[in-house]
Amino acid sequence: MNQLKLKFSSIEAPQSFDEVTTLIYSLISTTKLAVLQTYFGDSKLWGSLRLVRDIWIAYFLYNKITDIFTIIWGYGLIGSIKRLWRAINASIFSFVMTLPPIKRKVDKELEATIEKIETSLMQNDDKLLQFPKLPEEGISKESIVEELDKLQHLKHSDWNNGRVSGAVYHGGEELLDLQSEAYHKYAVANQLHPDVFPGVRKMEAEIVSMVLDIFNAPETGCGSTTSGGTESLLLTGLAAREYGKKNKGIIKPEVIAPVTVHAGIDKACSYFGMTLHKVDLDPETYQVDISKVKRLINKNTVLLVGSAPNYPHGIIDNIEELSKLALKYNIPLHVDACLGSFIVSFLERSKVHGDRPIPKFDFRLPGVTSISCDTHKYGFAPKGSSIIMYRNSKLRECQYYISSSWTGGMYGSPTLAGSRPGALMVGCWATLVKFGKDGYEESCRRIVDATMQLKSTLKTEETLSKYLEIIGDPIASVIAFKVKESEATNINIYELGDLLNSKGWHFAALQNPAGLHFALTRLTIPVVPELIEDLISSTKEAVQKRVSNNTVTSDTAAMYGVAGSVQTSGVADRLIVGFLDTLYKV
Ligand SMILES: *Cc1c(COP(=O)(O)O)cnc(C)c1O
Repeated sequence: MNQLKLKFSSIEAPQSFDEVTTLIYSLISTTKLAVLQTYFGDSKLWGSLRLVRDIWIAYFLYNKITDIFTIIWGYGLIGSIKRLWRAINASIFSFVMTLPPIKRKVDKELEATIEKIETSLMQNDDKLLQFPKLPEEGISKESIVEELDKLQHLKHSDWNNGRVSGAVYHGGEELLDLQSEAYHKYAVANQLHPDVFPGVRKMEAEIVSMVLDIFNAPETGCGSTTSGGTESLLLTGLAAREYGKKNKGIIKPEVIAPVTVHAGIDKACSYFGMTLHKVDLDPETYQVDISKVKRLINKNTVLLVGSAPNYPHGIIDNIEELSKLALKYNIPLHVDACLGSFIVSFLERSKVHGDRPIPKFDFRLPGVTSISCDTHKYGFAPKGSSIIMYRNSKLRECQYYISSSWTGGMYGSPTLAGSRPGALMVGCWATLVKFGKDGYEESCRRIVDATMQLKSTLKTEETLSKYLEIIGDPIASVIAFKVKESEATNINIYELGDLLNSKGWHFAALQNPAGLHFALTRLTIPVVPELIEDLISSTKEAVQKRVSNNTVTSDTAAMYGVAGSVQTSGVADRLIVGFLDTLYKV
């Protein structure tokens, strides 16, 4: 320390301010001369080009370095190294996969799996009429109706007995009749032509207004109807990108969302050229880790997303904290209540949780700028209907498509589609006003009650509580569970799923962590006791299976094994392509 002091004191300090300025000036002029010498030594033209080149390189490097630092700051040093390692790993393995002997082997296995998918999906029958081409002459109404019945009876999952997770959000037979009548009356309606169908315009406006009301929107609240949750998410993504561009000049937009966010957000980022940062969950609550969201916020962030609740685990993110971040950094916040729809919005009113306070997730939180709600899920409207809501019309305007100079006339369209099936909207309107607030409150109470019954059984029943663990603390209509860590070697969750499947139950498979979930619908309520019984017996069987046979024999486990490892994730992608191709094979 003493030595250090001595050294400092031995430097001769300038005696006056004048001396300092002279020193600086002479430094600058010598460097400037040196720089000019390097650039303009031979000719002015070459010198200028060299200067431009170097400024460009410096700018490029500056950007790259700030990008790298933003990533390191956002994901932490270890997190960034892990990401880099994963990326390197993936590219090495995708190269290895192209080596001929390996490629041949993988191709062969893929082909076999895709064939399996085809046999299970492409249900056909000699007795069915086949139409790979238009029939030369149309066929009679009677034969068409007969054919429709036959097609409906192809072997399929038993949804009508409530044994399928989610998928069919049935509002009752009487409602189906009403919806069919609404469809019949408005079969030709198209919202693209409000002058031709003024009644449809009024109904659509009222649908948006009714849903805004149940999500406690302010006076300025507004929105539009869409074809489904995915379109609502695409639009909120698009609107956020445009809003960020218009108001903050952001040209490299980024979105921050929990890993549990619906794939529709991935799709929005992929379609609209945005970088998506997926944030890990708090290991206790399974809500998005707020501190990690905060670290990832930067000048390019155009949107934060939370779910109420999310699809995989049925957990409502900590929207109150997300709202605070959104306000603090002045960034729009979207709440995906597509699945929660008429369940979360009625939790409070239905008092289904007694005195337990319900966390806030709607427009009452000042940071929330948009919410998506699927009327075609727990709203029981016909499939093909969802609502995207905004806090104000400045935000909504950013989702509009406007073309005033089109040769076909001045054109404007509020959503992704051009023409839209008005009949579906009418079906939605009829459903909402048929149920009313009381109807939805009642349906919320019954569905959530049944869900809580399943939840408490999972927690207390001897076998279930020994082997399985509920993911987080779900309070809506979805329960997800995984194998307890201590029992990991005694039972495989996908094997359990397959066993349940053989008993007619369709649980959804989850990954990272491996789990199963069930979304309860009105159809499930009467079969909850059976569900519990089969869950207990299947758990016992799954344990037995591991005792007698040490290898996992489940198809689902095999498939998720493939998808889960970095080495083979490219293969999983090809499997999905194969599945999608199968959809269009005649
Ligand atoms: C269902 C769902 C969506 C939207 O899905 P669509 O199939 O397009 O209606 C979005 N978010 C969550 C959480 C969902 O469960």
